[in-house]
Amino acid sequence: REVILSARDLVKHYPIRTGVLRRTTGQVRAVAGVSFDLYKGETLGIVGESGCGKSTLGRLLVQLERPTSGRLAFGGTVEDLDAGAPDVVDMVAADGNRLRQLRRDVQIVFQDPYTSLNPRKTVGDIIQEPFDIHPAVEPRQGRRRRVQELLELVGLNPEHINRYPHQFSGGQRQRIGIARGIALNPKVLVCDEPVSALDVSVQAQVVNLMERLQDELGLSYVFVAHDLSVVRHISDRVGVMYLGSMVELGDEEQIYERPTHPYTQALLSAVPVPDPTLRGRREEIVLSGDVPSPANPPSGCRFHTRCWKAQDVCAVEPPPLAPRPDGVSAHDSACHFAEPRTIVETVDVS
Ligand code: SF4
Ligand code: MG
Repeated sequence: REVILSARDLVKHYPIRTGVLRRTTGQVRAVAGVSFDLYKGETLGIVGESGCGKSTLGRLLVQLERPTSGRLAFGGTVEDLDAGAPDVVDMVAADGNRLRQLRRDVQIVFQDPYTSLNPRKTVGDIIQEPFDIHPAVEPRQGRRRRVQELLELVGLNPEHINRYPHQFSGGQRQRIGIARGIALNPKVLVCDEPVSALDVSVQAQVVNLMERLQDELGLSYVFVAHDLSVVRHISDRVGVMYLGSMVELGDEEQIYERPTHPYTQALLSAVPVPDPTLRGRREEIVLSGDVPSPANPPSGCRFHTRCWKAQDVCAVEPPPLAPRPDGVSAHDSACHFAEPRTIVETVDVS
């Protein structure tokens, strides 16, 4: 499988400023050393509770934020880059034309179509915005045409090009956001909670649209969301984040059917079984305590203050995100004692 985007030990700290002098009194470790590869044409879901760093990770990938440290490569892995592979770009070092090209290749779709669309602009102008920033992509005289094509591509009426955002429903507005996101023919689309603000019935339509566009345009998605069912539906692989770290990463089926990290197991145990034709038998795992502050994360395994399986070693040794050497856990899991545990067993009663 070909890698399109690659991250190694990605770190993002934000200063905490206090008092009238706004002195820096600490660091929020929003992303604390995240590594993964994104394959061409796949959807990688990123899940976790709010504050786990998943949105910050998304913003790092589209260069809305610069990492505090760590590596990002586009067109191959960081290792390919270091080996001198010709078509792999160092995203962190890129500037000038390279950075401009990267900003075309990796685009973002935001959560809230209500706040991310300028209410005083027509959809035509909104979808054209990327061409103002990258004029070479589409000559001025061809833009209206192209916008109409894009409207059609996302299932909207091209004749509505002069309407304003408030004249569209929530789901339609997210289609406008998606049209803008694909206007520059990106290779990677980072989707930050793209359907969370929508009604459940509309969510499915937008997710189906995204799947169709992925196949037609050969896109790779990083799909950031807290809704585990939506992520399961769209993702080929899933990464689970806790307190700035990726704690488990595997195929959708491995993560949902045989999770091996205690945090993933707890997260899944809190999901209701939605399908009325399936009767779910679910273990309830109730975690003790709150998520610790990302300004002062626990030593060793960051989950050890809440983990029912924690041993002495957990507070000292950070577990690597890797399969267990003895094969008990076959996919990547950052737990010294990773082992599969089925959380939701469903039986068909229809
Ligand atoms: Fe729990 Fe230890 Fe595994 Fe961390 S390493 S998840 S504390 S058992
Ligand atoms: Mg897919």
